[in-house]
Amino acid sequence: MKDEYIHSSFVDPDIVFESPMRNEEPLLVNCTNTWDLRPYAYTQVPNLYLASDYVKTNTDLATMEGANEAARRAVNSILDASGSKTPKCKIWDLHEPGIFTLLRWRDLQRYKKGLPWSLHQPFIIKVLHKIRFWFYEKSGR
Ligand SMILES: Cc1cc2nc3c(=O)[nH]c(=O)nc-3n(C[C@H](O)[C@H](O)[C@H](O)COP(=O)(O)OP(=O)(O)OC[C@H]3O[C@@H](n4cnc5c(N)ncnc54)[C@H](O)[C@@H]3O)c2cc1C
Repeated sequence: MKDEYIHSSFVDPDIVFESPMRNEEPLLVNCTNTWDLRPYAYTQVPNLYLASDYVKTNTDLATMEGANEAARRAVNSILDASGSKTPKCKIWDLHEPGIFTLLRWRDLQRYKKGLPWSLHQPFIIKVLHKIRFWFYEKSGR
């Protein structure tokens, strides 16, 4: 890109140029039951779109993947609003590796009971997970 194309630039003030250089940006982690408070990539304001990790996405996690999906949704909203026939960006479900299926199931059971997340796994879950892991490694997927 040519320098003359740059309108302006901005460096996040959370980047502190001291020695040692540091990033004071706090890590955003969405709190429980805040889904309804989060915006869509499109808004009620014409020509205002949000492409950031806090947007409602299938990823539902404040990560690069979440920000990327929000950006694709924002682009699609712009294409809709402009009536463009350009192909839309793909939107996909969050890929959840099969190897963690059992652990996710266990987490869900605890969640349904109103229990907090726990690192501890019952013996039977540990054994079944090891078996699952063995098959996972053997099949290479
Ligand atoms: C410490 C830390 C570790 C992380 N580790 C990971 C990780 O390992 N993997 C992962 O996937 N994600 C990680 N994340 C999350 C990931 O960085 C964010 O989810 C992602 O960068 C969000 O992208 P974004 O475009 O929504 O926002 P940002 O990347 O925050 O971009 C917003 C931009 O807007 C600029 N801005 C703000 N206000 C203004 C203004 N008024 N005028 C002009 N510009 C402005 C900011 O300077 C910034 O550059 C981490 C985040 C942090 C803080």
